[in-house]
Amino acid sequence: MSIDIDINSGFCFGVTRAIQAAESELQKGALYCLGDIVHNGQEVKRLELLGLQTIDYDDLRTLPAHSRVLLRAHGEPPSTYWIAQQRGIEIIDATCPVVKKLQDRIRACYEKHRNDEALPPQIIIYGQPGHAEVIGLQGQTNNTAIVIESIDQLDRIDFTRPIYLFSQTTKSVEGFQALVDAIKSAISNQQSAIVPEVHDTICRNVANRVAQLQDFARANDLVIFVGGSKSSNARVLYKNCVEVNPNTIFISSPDEVVDKLSTFHTASADRKNVQRSTLKVGICGATSTPRWLMKQVRDKLTNL
Ligand code: SF4
Repeated sequence: MSIDIDINSGFCFGVTRAIQAAESELQKGALYCLGDIVHNGQEVKRLELLGLQTIDYDDLRTLPAHSRVLLRAHGEPPSTYWIAQQRGIEIIDATCPVVKKLQDRIRACYEKHRNDEALPPQIIIYGQPGHAEVIGLQGQTNNTAIVIESIDQLDRIDFTRPIYLFSQTTKSVEGFQALVDAIKSAISNQQSAIVPEVHDTICRNVANRVAQLQDFARANDLVIFVGGSKSSNARVLYKNCVEVNPNTIFISSPDEVVDKLSTFHTASADRKNVQRSTLKVGICGATSTPRWLMKQVRDKLTNL
């Protein structure tokens, strides 16, 4: 067996930046983080052992003045900053600059068109409802933006009114293009004169990984994808691996390796036939998967 870790997998720039901010701020004293700092339970545990305390919105409303709260890479709606200001809480803003720029663009679009009474505009966000980043984006529009997750939800759009389309940063380019095509086709079917304003705001830090990840998955006989169960990016990238190599298993921690591998072995008769003398195993992960976790998986396999 040969084991490789994908050099392109692991934290993206925005997550690395937020974690570095947490580590550095923890050295100055008590620090809270609003929501899990990253959608990876193992990394959250590591930082909690260093003293980081994860809180929710209810906790934020009851924190004493001068508490220090870190905002993660996903960003927050304006209401969070307002609550912090009212309570005298110090904000350490680790919102990813790419997300910040997207928030600014959506807010500018909303401010520009909010008073168009003759034809009220619709800001559409292609994203996962309830996802932290999406909540932050909706907040820029006073929660008036319509969140669409798939083309099955087109009935929520009025094709006779102006449409301004944006995307959550971690959605797939193909899914976004399919939505754009479906919107244009619906407009044409209704013989509407509306021309949708399309803003492809998908983060290329993630989108560019797909091709690299699929090359990596193809080059291995067995792929072990390491990702958090709450991570939408992990789900998308795992599916991309399975598309090109059905011999892919998903795990969240090294402890799952043995169970998942035995299930894989039992089911392998129906999967891609592995006949090489040396089994090539590839370990990869999402933008929220720490490299140390992928290394632990490698060590576990080596010990096995
Ligand atoms: S995926 Fe892109 S936008 Fe999201 S945190 Fe990472 S670098 Fe920032």
